[in-house]
Amino acid sequence: MLDLLVHNASLPDGRSGMSVAVQDGRIVEVSPGLQAPAHESVDAQGQLLSPPFIDAHFHMDATLSYGLPRVNASGTLLEGIALWGELKPHLTHEALVGRAMAYCDWAVGKGLLAIRTHVDVCDPRLLAVDALLEVKRRVAPYIDLQLVAFPQDGVLRGKRGPQEHMDTLKRALDKGVDVVGGIPHFERTMADGALSVKLLCELAAERGLRVDMHCDESDDPLSRHIETLAFETQRLGLQGRVTGSHLTSMHSMDNYYVSKLIPLIAEAGLHVVANPLINITLQGRHDSYPKRRGMTRVPELLAAGVNVSFGQDCAMDPWYSLGSGDMLEVAHMGLHVGQMTSQAAMAQCFEAVTTHPARALGLEGYGIAAGCHADLVLLQASDPVEAIRLRATRLRVYRRGTLIAQAPANTSTLHLPGRPASTAFRHDSIPRF
Ligand SMILES: [Zn+2]
Repeated sequence: MLDLLVHNASLPDGRSGMSVAVQDGRIVEVSPGLQAPAHESVDAQGQLLSPPFIDAHFHMDATLSYGLPRVNASGTLLEGIALWGELKPHLTHEALVGRAMAYCDWAVGKGLLAIRTHVDVCDPRLLAVDALLEVKRRVAPYIDLQLVAFPQDGVLRGKRGPQEHMDTLKRALDKGVDVVGGIPHFERTMADGALSVKLLCELAAERGLRVDMHCDESDDPLSRHIETLAFETQRLGLQGRVTGSHLTSMHSMDNYYVSKLIPLIAEAGLHVVANPLINITLQGRHDSYPKRRGMTRVPELLAAGVNVSFGQDCAMDPWYSLGSGDMLEVAHMGLHVGQMTSQAAMAQCFEAVTTHPARALGLEGYGIAAGCHADLVLLQASDPVEAIRLRATRLRVYRRGTLIAQAPANTSTLHLPGRPASTAFRHDSIPRF
């Protein structure tokens, strides 16, 4: 007997009337109209069954700290970094773990079951690293948490000197942090930024690790560290294992230079992460009008074959006062900021919070196919575009075939004479002509 059978489901690739059979935590069959005895049988009623959402870029050490010790008055990136510096001396292991665990509860409720989080490694005590390693162990049954060693103050610029900052970063990797991070645009000079990319990529190559750098999170069109990141990726044979996060300077670059740069990014097999909620909020702050949007060139990168994901980046922290772990909200903003309004582009926005980040993170067994992990989200929507439009309710969330979250359908009861008794905001119930 099967453990779980979901039938009459629509899948993100457009197939409908599909059954998904689960045994021992894995999907064993995906076929139309399969009927078989199962301990749990779920009628999807034609709604969308998706693999879980994935956040390719987050800061779990800072999450839910909004207002501590004060709020970010200007709302800028630099005040956020300063504010985080004020908060750091007051952080405790218990508070870090408590906030991160609470965020992971939100994530599960939103069907977000894999998160790559950067963790600040400039504190010689590595307090946040220890806290997030504990969180990683505790949430492992239901969330894949990948940690990035993120030198927030710059490895070369940091107050304690390059040698010590590199050593602290290496100690974080020794403890079990998975990925090498960086912040080249925050180093003192362009040359130091480029040197930091070289040193950190060499470290990753030496240890067989992936790389994910905050790169060119700036409105300065001359911030071109992504070029160095692509170069080092090729030089060290790291193709497919390196991610450039943010790349907001590309928004402001000259088109001619970008026509050279995007093929270099594609050639190096770099993954790209845009963070639309944060980019639209933090970039363009020195502009009057017209005011730049700041998000990197997502449609152009996708057209060149680059794997682009959307990340949440922040939720209720020194940089951003909103956020709820809802990757459909992130996709919704990315769609708007990138003007990705064709049917195909809207579908890509859904992929940017599901299949694309699965590739960037190197997740094994992700997807809805025989042999994949039975990690599934049933959405109150017929297809990916409707899911984005409605930021659809996650009706049921499964991890390895076990139900870990559920929510009632979003329906408003109406008290209107001559009108239906309720509405669920769905398109399929509307007369077409
Ligand atoms: Zn970030």
